[in-house]
Amino acid sequence: MTDRIARFLDERRPATPCLVIDLDHIERNYSELRRLLPLARIFYAVKANPAPEVIQRLAGLGSSFDAASGPEIRLCLERGATPDRISFGNTIKKARDIAEAHAAGVKLYAFDSLEELEKIAAHAPGAQVFCRILLDCAGAEWPLSRKFGCSPAMAERLLARAAELGLEAHGLSFHVGSQQTDLGQWDRAVAEVGRLFRVLAERGVPLKLVNLGGGFPARYRSEVPAVEAYAAAVMEAMTRHFGNDLPEMVIEPGRSLVGDAGVIESEVVLVSRKDEGEERRWVYLDIGKFGGLAETMDEAIKYRLTTSRDGGETGPVILAGPTCDSADILYEKTEYRLPLDLKSGDLVRFHAAGAYTSSYASVGFNGFPPLSVHCI
Ligand SMILES: *Cc1c(COP(=O)(O)O)cnc(C)c1O
Repeated sequence: MTDRIARFLDERRPATPCLVIDLDHIERNYSELRRLLPLARIFYAVKANPAPEVIQRLAGLGSSFDAASGPEIRLCLERGATPDRISFGNTIKKARDIAEAHAAGVKLYAFDSLEELEKIAAHAPGAQVFCRILLDCAGAEWPLSRKFGCSPAMAERLLARAAELGLEAHGLSFHVGSQQTDLGQWDRAVAEVGRLFRVLAERGVPLKLVNLGGGFPARYRSEVPAVEAYAAAVMEAMTRHFGNDLPEMVIEPGRSLVGDAGVIESEVVLVSRKDEGEERRWVYLDIGKFGGLAETMDEAIKYRLTTSRDGGETGPVILAGPTCDSADILYEKTEYRLPLDLKSGDLVRFHAAGAYTSSYASVGFNGFPPLSVHCI
């Protein structure tokens, strides 16, 4: 947690649950990524944290944006991004959203199917398109597999078809899976992309762009390699498979830019046991799966927690949210230990919670409002 966030929480004592984002820390993360990957353009994945202040800060720094919908594109434009710095990166788009993006001047579009390619050709004629290839996302704690991308053989046929439809067959993209812990995944993906570049060049369809997606991690409970190691893995993969003839490179970080720039402050609502003899206590917080902690689904993302009572003895707990849905349990299989004297009214902090939290909060399940966000 940054000193600024700690001071804000201690001095302001905002109502809980809330997410506090340190914009200066996002700026530091962005600048570090620029320094480590000077050849890649950075397209921030808006869905990770779409707070207008976050978009505005990044737009001011010169960042580009990976947007997934009409409203995300509008948000970026309103907060200072120019259309040439926006990529419509969702492979599943409504025709009218494509038309709106085209009218706004957005040039770059993702696809992974013939129908989507034809939609883009019809509603954004002449656009630059890139095809997403399917990966298995092994090693990722939050995989983005199965649903996105097509086989390399199909990508080859579709990019050739793009040219026939009057589109610019611009490049290829992939996503190795979010919170990727295996640095070797980029090499596997880039090898495939490099091969497709050569095959398509031979077919008279020269590509220009490799979009390396996201996947750089935030630090939760377990250690992850430093961002330097990720950047090095990406550049080594690119030079191994493209030699000195490097194409345009794009990365689309979400989690790694905003994750560790945010802390969620929550309050204990109840500590109880299902039987007096049971050791494991149930700790119910004022935030749960529906309040923004959706990535605890299958206990995939394991946040680091601290409490206002840290220091004494701890015991095992099951952590749950406040809503009347039994799916609203955060951690039951994963071992979490909290202070034995923890009780209602105490505070529990979720560290590195700046990504994929506020944007996942429901609008009012059980009357609980969406997670409030303070950008400082
Ligand atoms: C979600 C997403 C990202 C961001 O991924 P992170 O792992 O958070 O960096 C990048 N690109 C696309 C297409 C995405 O859907």
